[in-house]
Parts: sequence; C-alpha cells; structure tokens
Amino acid sequence: MSKLLEVTDLKTYFYTDDGVVKAVDGVSFSVDSGKTIGIVGESGCGKSVTAMSILRLIPDPPGKIVNGEIIFEGEDLTKVSDKRIREIRGNNISVIFQEPMTSLNPVFTVGYQIGEVLMLHQKLSEEEARERAIEMIRLVGIPNPERIVDEYPHQLSGGMRQRIMIAMALACQPRLLIADEPTTALDVTIQAQILEIMNDLKNKLNTSIMLITHDLGVVAEMADHVIVMYSGKVVEDAPIIELFKNPRHPYTIGLMGSIPSLVKEGQRLETIPGMVPNPLYLPKGCYFHPRCKYAVEECKHAQPELREIAPGHKVACIRAEEVTRQ
Ligand code: SF4
Ligand code: MG
Repeated sequence: MSKLLEVTDLKTYFYTDDGVVKAVDGVSFSVDSGKTIGIVGESGCGKSVTAMSILRLIPDPPGKIVNGEIIFEGEDLTKVSDKRIREIRGNNISVIFQEPMTSLNPVFTVGYQIGEVLMLHQKLSEEEARERAIEMIRLVGIPNPERIVDEYPHQLSGGMRQRIMIAMALACQPRLLIADEPTTALDVTIQAQILEIMNDLKNKLNTSIMLITHDLGVVAEMADHVIVMYSGKVVEDAPIIELFKNPRHPYTIGLMGSIPSLVKEGQRLETIPGMVPNPLYLPKGCYFHPRCKYAVEECKHAQPELREIAPGHKVACIRAEEVTRQ
C-alpha cells in the first residue's frame, strides 16, 4: 500500500501569556492512498490543530510547528516555501469545515465559488470552470445543477450548502481531502447522506480522506483506519475492524460506551466521567489517569508509551493487555 501522507513526531505548540499549550505533542500516523483515516477525540484533543499543521495554517504567533515531519507525496510540508504550500492547498489537499455558511462567500454564486479555484490553479477558462462546477454539483447529488450553479449560498438549505462545500473541495480532484467535523452541524438523515457522498466520491476519484470527528459512530461508517487522540497525543491507533473488535485503551472504550448502536440492549449509555484536562495544567503521568477506572499508582507518575500490542495495533496504556470492553 503506498503512503500518501506520513506524519512523524509532529509537535505544534501555542505560546500564550499563561504558558505553553502543547496542542499536538509527538503525533505520528500515515494515510494510505485512496483510504480514509479517522481522527477521533473530544474537542481540544488536538485533532483540528493536526489538520491545520498539515495545511500550514497555524497562526504564528502564537502557534508554531516545533518538531516533526509531514511528508506528502515526497515533500516535507513543514519545509516547503509559502508559495509551494499555497499550490498544494489549491491542487493536492482540500479541506471542508463544519460550518458551510462561514466558508462560503455570500456575495458570489455557488458555481463561481466552485469554479474559482479551477480558474486560479488549473487555468481553466470561465466557461470550462462553469461546466466543471455543474458536473461537480451533479456528482454531489443535487438535482437541477444547471439552475443551482447560479444560486447564492443563502438560497440553499444547510445540507445542500455542505454538499456544495464538498463539490468545491473536490473540484480540483485533490489527492487528500481533510474533513473537519463535516457533518456535525447537520441532522442525522442529512449527515448519513453526506457521508455516503464522500465515500462514493472517494471511490470514484481515488481521494484519500482524513476525517476528523468526535463521533466514533461516524468513523465506523467511513474509516479504514483510526487514531484516537487525547490531550495532544495518540492513545490508540488501529485498523477499523480491529479497533471495534478489540479496543484496548480505556478512553477509546469510554467513547464507544456513548454510541447508542454499540451499546447492548439493557445496558446504559455511559459517558466518560470528568473533563478533558486544561492543556496548561496537564496531570503528571498518563494524562487520562484522573478519569480512568483502570488507573493504578504507576499511572500517576510515568507517561505510557505508544506501543504495538498486535500487528498494526498500537496503544498508549500500561494496562492495555488487561483492558477489554465488557
Ligand atoms: Fe488508565 Fe493507566 Fe492506562 Fe492511563 S496508563 S489509560 S491511567 S490504565
Ligand atoms: Mg476542532
């Protein structure tokens, strides 16, 4: 399997007046060509900062990539010029965010916005860009693309706007699509449709997807591989089937306990007790220990290493072998 993206020991820190926030602290993972990786965790775990680091969109100051490599198709994105990273963002890596209303420009038609990037980066004429926009609108399953192409964002529903965002992101046929909570603001039915469209397009266009979400249920539908993050670190990393069959980090199991479809009949939906720690005052030892029902004395002192417990399955927990889903 060829690797499209390989992130190694990435550290992205924010230097605030109150201290250093290690938003991403030694994260490594890779994305295979044509596959979907899910990055999962509660808000503030560093998943969006990981994405912004790959796109080199970290506001500096206060943020900075202080360590690591981000190898995308043979180039280290932490080292390429500003001009080159802009080219890559226009042609090879696209992104969709949660809130389509803030990412779409209200004063331009959706057709213009889909086509703009193609005129800019792929030097298409206005006519050609419009044709491609219509084709993309059709591809994301919106009826009457010839009419929709001339409409403005406010004339469309939330679900349609999110499809337009996907059309925009995929118009240049990127190698990698980064989707940050792409369906969080949508209702469940539309969410399912959007995920299906993304999956479909991934297969048609052979795009890799990095799917960022707090929702393991969404990942179960979409991903080939999953990494679970907590307080800036990867705590579990496994192929999707292995992760759901054999989760080994207490935090992953906690996340699973809050997915209705994964909870057996008669069992209660469980939430993880306590809160994500303040990144300025992380606990000593395992960052998860104040919330962990498996914690022992050692967990309060030594930070667990991410170690391989089965082929391709890594866990950062000293008691991984004893941890199982009940
Ligand atoms: Fe829990 Fe200890 Fe494992 Fe951390 S290392 S997840 S505190 S058992
Ligand atoms: Mg986020």
